[in-house]
Amino acid sequence: MENGGLSHASCSMNFIPGRRHLILNSGALALGAWLPAGAAAATPFDAEIERFLKAYWALLPGAAVDAGQYAAAARLPAPTEGYRQAQLKFAAEWLKRLERLGRTSLSPAQQGDLALLDNHLRGLQWVLTELRSDQWNPSEYNVAGPFSELLNKDFAPLPERLKLIDQRLQQVPAYYRAALKQIRQPSVEHLRLAIRQNRGALATFQADIPKAMAEAGLPVSKAMAGHNAAALQAVEDFIAGLQKIEAGLGSRGRSFRLGKALFEQKFQYEIQATIDAQGLYQRALAEKEALHQRMDGLAGQLWAGLFPGMVQPADRLERIARVIDKLSERHVSAERYVDEIKAQIPVLAQWVEQHDLLSMDPSRPLQVRATPTWMRGVSGVSISAPGPLDPTGVTYYNVDPLDDYTPEQAESYLREYNHWVLQILNIHEAVPGHYVQLLHSNKSPSKVKALFGNGAMVEGWAVYSERMMLESGWGGGEPEMGLMYSKWNLRVVCNAILDHGVHVLGMSEQQAQQLLEREAFQSRTEAAQKWVRVQVSSVQLSSYFAGFSEILALREQLKAAQGTGFKLKAFHEEFLSHGSAPVKMVSALMKKAHAAKP
Ligand code: ZN
Ligand code: ZN
Repeated sequence: MENGGLSHASCSMNFIPGRRHLILNSGALALGAWLPAGAAAATPFDAEIERFLKAYWALLPGAAVDAGQYAAAARLPAPTEGYRQAQLKFAAEWLKRLERLGRTSLSPAQQGDLALLDNHLRGLQWVLTELRSDQWNPSEYNVAGPFSELLNKDFAPLPERLKLIDQRLQQVPAYYRAALKQIRQPSVEHLRLAIRQNRGALATFQADIPKAMAEAGLPVSKAMAGHNAAALQAVEDFIAGLQKIEAGLGSRGRSFRLGKALFEQKFQYEIQATIDAQGLYQRALAEKEALHQRMDGLAGQLWAGLFPGMVQPADRLERIARVIDKLSERHVSAERYVDEIKAQIPVLAQWVEQHDLLSMDPSRPLQVRATPTWMRGVSGVSISAPGPLDPTGVTYYNVDPLDDYTPEQAESYLREYNHWVLQILNIHEAVPGHYVQLLHSNKSPSKVKALFGNGAMVEGWAVYSERMMLESGWGGGEPEMGLMYSKWNLRVVCNAILDHGVHVLGMSEQQAQQLLEREAFQSRTEAAQKWVRVQVSSVQLSSYFAGFSEILALREQLKAAQGTGFKLKAFHEEFLSHGSAPVKMVSALMKKAHAAKP
């Protein structure tokens, strides 16, 4: 699902677009064991990449924890001006070293790795010197995420994890003192988000850490309890400091809107598409109109069966909305929800094999499970995958059970994930979406692509796979499936329109509501949540449609060039073999490879 909650930006330098529902759970074991000690210097290229990663993680322990390098969590650098300068120095030095590495003879895969790192470091420089969100987005300052990881991930015995937590706790006061000094003219929206999210962090120190300490019965617990109390106080002081800023802000706050120049640049670094943000926006507007026309035709076909003897509304959007509303009544019961997802996965896998769309890998099975409690409430469903060097590791499809929902909430959720949409969700998350993409990218393991991979390619593939499954005949050409798929696809298209509309064109809340509720058939609640998200994020909402439309365009270009020689399965497997590289890069490599063939 893409409409999950807001992602935690626990590390301000985490420039990698958030994989909000694809959790690359590489884990300490998998990444640590990636290159055995003796093999680390297998080639000069690998050795230099290893040195880069070591230095990168030393500088940015938050990124190290994200990558499963938990030992780094002992350090929590304070976001001072000196720390910003250290990162700029690091970026400049490594851009030079990587450029030197690029002059040696490299495979296309290695060139791809270098291009990703180059883009990442230039993006980091841009964030630190141009975007400067460290000054206006206080929600970048929050220490809760890595503490939760350390408490909940079972990578070492609890007493050892608590030792790391204790070391980290001692640095929390300095962290928040520096953070408060860094803030200049924030936007009121980001300020309020920071207050809300740091309030959410309080429970970590009030409840979670004391509970874990009691469980472990550590001898050092008295000193640690003091460190924990000081950390708690530091969060409270930070919140009080933010409230003071808010009170004095008046109308002098910065706009939450990024504006055209910054939006275009951020789009270049994060999406790495063949077109610019303005071009994607135009493409999305055209796609919205095409979808409306298609949906109107399908709604017309379905009307008489659903509403016998009733006159159709004259307005096409109203007509479509009525049909969608009626069809949404068909859904599984709350009790059957998890079992239904379990039952669909093997059927989808068999379809993919029988229709020769992609090869599957039975040695890396997908296991559907109820989401572990501590991970719940973010996105509804998610994929947790082991690292590439763990060939028999299980990939989990986490499904939040609907137990905690009131009957009304469950009904509303199930209407949204109705008979048809639930199938599309499983295609997107699992087969042949995220889970199958990972199976393929793990065949040519690249640490760089796993860590610095392109979010638009990953999401774009999952969105593309929905379209491709329907093209292969999934759903039997039923107009109901066609209509529900179009509604789902319209969400991705309208995310891109909203993102650009709000940050570049000044779209108002009312205009956004009109777009989402009337033109994209979303509920009031969903539209309201999306408005919150678009105010405090930028470019990420465009990534799904960007990746999707770029993959589709590449496929059509190669199809036209190869004529009868074009084979869909071969296209998919070649595309996925490049790992999570930007579509623009894969596109160039594939066109070159095919042009070279006689
Ligand atoms: Zn119902
Ligand atoms: Zn996805």
